[in-house]
Amino acid sequence: MRLVELNRTIEGDYPLAKFERLAEVLLSNEGYVTAKLEFGYSVGYACLKARASAKLLVRCQRCLEPMETVVTGSFKFALLDSEDDFELIPDEFEPYLLEGDEQSIIDILEDELLLSLPMVTVHDEACSDFIINQQKAAAAEKEASHPFAALKALKEELDNKAN
Ligand SMILES: [Zn+2]
Repeated sequence: MRLVELNRTIEGDYPLAKFERLAEVLLSNEGYVTAKLEFGYSVGYACLKARASAKLLVRCQRCLEPMETVVTGSFKFALLDSEDDFELIPDEFEPYLLEGDEQSIIDILEDELLLSLPMVTVHDEACSDFIINQQKAAAAEKEASHPFAALKALKEELDNKAN
């Protein structure tokens, strides 16, 4: 609330190692969460507008090898002392219940990043033998269904026999 009173904007990099809950789903806790947090009042409510992003190392769920994924989250919280106020705040806000005097910025950012994690993380490109073989089979099938390619192949085969 002090930051709200001061109308402070904080920009910074927070070490991933501090995000213990997030680290449980990561292969490495090296790196940073980059965040911008704007505290202030908006339409009479104490609010926190924030944007956080991080490059995370996770496991590809197809080939089980490590892969990087960039996760970005943004939110606009109305900081409230009581759940009674949840109904009153404008739609543009999400309610955030303050507990005690000190609120951990890491906790708030961590909640948001956990929510923003993709449900399924897989490499963009074909990465497992299964997928690569599937693509090869599809390409072969496409070639085989091309009549001119088939004729050309037949002609070449006949030429070879003739030689
Ligand atoms: Zn993969």
